[in-house]
Amino acid sequence: MIQQTLVLIKPDGLKKSLTGNILTRLSETRLDIIAAKIVTVSRKLAEKHYCHLKDKPFFEDLIKYICGEFHKKKVLAMVYYGEQAIGKVRELAGLTNPEEAESVSIRGAYGRITTGGVYENVIHTSTDEKEAEREIKLWFEPDEIIADIYPTKVVKEETKKKIWA
Ligand code: UDP
Ligand code: MG
Repeated sequence: MIQQTLVLIKPDGLKKSLTGNILTRLSETRLDIIAAKIVTVSRKLAEKHYCHLKDKPFFEDLIKYICGEFHKKKVLAMVYYGEQAIGKVRELAGLTNPEEAESVSIRGAYGRITTGGVYENVIHTSTDEKEAEREIKLWFEPDEIIADIYPTKVVKEETKKKIWA
């Protein structure tokens, strides 16, 4: 089954200069990158992204973590596309807890648990098709993705936007 999945290299991954390593590992999947950008994550975006965890005791630290308060204020956001994309990337990433993740997985190799209990696991990747759709639509506009993966509609833009001077 052809799928798409959101992949984030989290602020710890960027701070530790792991981008190249992680992209190389991801290229083993032979999936296509159909969108990519560097994002400074706002609190609003972070809260929406992690809305399913809002009642967890670690939520506030998780928001600070993804916003880059502990590392660099940026993440690399990408969409990977291809046969079984979700499972393939998820398997390479490894389990959520970096100490339980296989040592050869991305999280097992590069993640850590902070003294505050947050899993700094260097990469985010969607769990299933529903989550992938919600997350991709949250992080990307249709025009930022080079494939037609979800239905779109055309609206007349009334809002101000920045253009090159
Ligand atoms: N997380 C954490 N402690 C936990 C569970 C999750 O710090 O006990 C963090 C971790 O960075 C994880 C993120 O919250 O990647 C999102 O959690 P989720 O359960 O969605 O795991 P994932 O889908 O990222 O494997
Ligand atoms: Mg998740």
